[in-house]
Amino acid sequence: MNKLIIATKNKGKMKDFEVLFSKYGIEVSSLLDLDESIPDIEETGDTFEENAAIKAEAIAASFGIPVLADDSGLMVDALEGRPGVYSARYAGIEKDDVANYEKLLSELTDVPDSERTARFVCVLALAQPNHATLLKRGTCEGRIGLNSEGTNGFGYDPIFIPNGYDQTMAQLTAEEKNQISHRKNAIVQLEDWLKQQI
Ligand code: IMP
Repeated sequence: MNKLIIATKNKGKMKDFEVLFSKYGIEVSSLLDLDESIPDIEETGDTFEENAAIKAEAIAASFGIPVLADDSGLMVDALEGRPGVYSARYAGIEKDDVANYEKLLSELTDVPDSERTARFVCVLALAQPNHATLLKRGTCEGRIGLNSEGTNGFGYDPIFIPNGYDQTMAQLTAEEKNQISHRKNAIVQLEDWLKQQI
């Protein structure tokens, strides 16, 4: 196998996956490449694991081939883990990245730097016909900046400063982000499976 379907329509995630899977010689396709008419799959779970499995299994069942899904988000300690599984729609159903991070910044207005700790979480679900779904979780620790900075990446990247850096994820290049990201840390755990496929 040198092609893998990722059960997403999120262009930001797909850019990350293109960089990450190129290392394994695997070409990725999204639901946008396959068929625009595939409806959005409702994420009805309370956990990243449940939602990733729902997405991967629904698409694998329709196509009869291995499908990878990513459910991910930002967990902020001062907000008791919010926005968490609601990260994509934190400021409303429109999935507006700027509105989402502006809402989060305004909730942290009075929170000092030392208490702005947070982590990105990525759970990958690999669904294959006649196999149990594999679930792998990766995280990336950091803190929330005082302002948004940078234009690379997507989602909450402009307000997230990874540990060991003084720049936001959106000020890093795609290659730099994908050496330290939650998505990278989840994919590494699928390496055994990936190597069997090449
Ligand atoms: P999902 O489609 O329900 O998994 O939503 C994931 C949401 O989490 C995205 O829309 C972003 O808001 C946020 N997110 C996940 N991964 C990243 C990332 O790598 N950078 C910035 N935001 C992310």
